[in-house]
Amino acid sequence: MTANLYHTTMSQQKLCPHCSLWSPWNGHIDDKCLHCSEYLKLAERIDQEEKEQKRRKLEFNFRERFPLSIKADDPWWIKGSKQAIYAVYFVFMSIMVTILWIVFWLAT
Ligand SMILES: [Zn+2]
Repeated sequence: MTANLYHTTMSQQKLCPHCSLWSPWNGHIDDKCLHCSEYLKLAERIDQEEKEQKRRKLEFNFRERFPLSIKADDPWWIKGSKQAIYAVYFVFMSIMVTILWIVFWLAT
């Protein structure tokens, strides 16, 4: 096998991490092996899923942490104040989350 042919093969096929057979690959993370139907980029998929879960956790916490929840029986002026505080809080937390994101993506 020449170097050039090897390169061509590499760009069109991928060695399946599950059954160790070569399978056609279009460059997508969701492409599956022809032989065993396992994901060709299984490790990358798991990695991406873990990152996604961490990201969701981050977003979830950020909404849950808001100390002033708006109740249905609050007077209109309390609702208004809480909404105003929430708007400020939302902007502030968005900035915080963005910073966390950058730190998070740099760390992984
Ligand atoms: Zn396979």
